[in-house]
Amino acid sequence: MTDTTMGFDTLAVHAGTAPDPATGARQVPIYQTTAYVFRDADHAAALFNLTEVGYIYSRLTNPTVSALANRVCALEGGAGAVACSSGHAAQIMALFPLMRPGCNIVASTRLYGGTIQQFTNTIRTFGWSAKFVDTDDLAAVEAACDENTRAIFCETIANPGGYISDLPALAAIANKVGVPLIVDNTTATPYLCRPIEHGATLVVHSATKYLTGNGTVTGGIVVDSGKFDWSASDKFPALSQPEPAYHGITFHTALGAMAFTFHSIAVGLRDLGMTMNPQGAHYTLMGIETLGLRMQRHVENAQKVAEWLEADPRVEFVTYAGLKSSPYHHRIAQIVPKGAGALFTFALKSGYDGCVKLIDNLKLFSHVANLGDTRSLVIHSASTTHRQLSPEAQIKAGAAPNVVRLSIGIEDVADIIADLDQALAKASA
Ligand SMILES: *Cc1c(COP(=O)(O)O)cnc(C)c1O
Repeated sequence: MTDTTMGFDTLAVHAGTAPDPATGARQVPIYQTTAYVFRDADHAAALFNLTEVGYIYSRLTNPTVSALANRVCALEGGAGAVACSSGHAAQIMALFPLMRPGCNIVASTRLYGGTIQQFTNTIRTFGWSAKFVDTDDLAAVEAACDENTRAIFCETIANPGGYISDLPALAAIANKVGVPLIVDNTTATPYLCRPIEHGATLVVHSATKYLTGNGTVTGGIVVDSGKFDWSASDKFPALSQPEPAYHGITFHTALGAMAFTFHSIAVGLRDLGMTMNPQGAHYTLMGIETLGLRMQRHVENAQKVAEWLEADPRVEFVTYAGLKSSPYHHRIAQIVPKGAGALFTFALKSGYDGCVKLIDNLKLFSHVANLGDTRSLVIHSASTTHRQLSPEAQIKAGAAPNVVRLSIGIEDVADIIADLDQALAKASA
């Protein structure tokens, strides 16, 4: 099934897969194998030379994992994709072909907390660095780009705070300075936004969240648009010049629009080993079959819950871009026309203690450090993920002591609201 002109929900069920040629199995089999028998010595040589595409060893490629990569690629409208062991692995895999020691990325200040950590401290040990900039200040984004910048990085919908990135404006800057725009599309999913259509070069996902959708898998994906000209400058030698890590092949010359994807497999997965496992890929494929249906319900519920909370006198404010009060409401029509996601924060008038009482009294909501589950989830950042920060830093990060983050699930919305109502009563007493 390769007709990528079909509709989103059709692709979500069919893209990247066909009945198993060996058995006719209709569902994608879990190819639980490490290696694949070569037809003969010439076949093996052709596979290693990248002149023929096929399976060698499951650290590189595996049929179940490839089916997942191809499905997400079709949903995002990309040229190629690789599946990885986690969302954080996908971020490193996205940067790996672009970066050398001394290179930097310009990253949004509004990112998943774990990503801020990865970019602030961990990538420094590779000799890479990140400059964090408020991506609403386009002049500052452009000014932060220097001769060593190799990418601009943002999230489509960033939490907390119901922030929606101006993807076309950021893509225009990336284009002007000659680097790719990398968009983490985890919280939007391709159902709500396809960043490549707004000018992104690379799209990264934590498949752990909405793609799988039920809190069973840790996984990640990198999708490449295939449109970036890696040879336009000498900034990306891993792709535009002979690659010593793969017997001197020049990936962009040899593989064109598939250069990034093949480099990511032949060098990235081979040497970094951040490979997704076939069982995890199978679960994620099954999750994606219902992605459109789930996202529709997620955003419908989130909109109703946000409106209900905003009208409640016990609540100080709600930061959801689906609300007219949001400073990012005007970006919905252009960036996420089907809805502003299902992740937002709200502040209680009863402060830090009220939040703790709220969390302890919610029954339907699960108190977890996760998002994008079918179940409604809640976390009080100030007492958990942002505990180490000063109150001033907490406020700056959108995690003030009286702020609670919700990931709205697909349950009956009346039950979600009733649960919040009873817990708010106890929190405000
Ligand atoms: C969870 C998450 C990540 C990291 O993904 P893991 O699968 O947990 O490694 C990255 N970005 C966003 C927006 C996330 O929500």
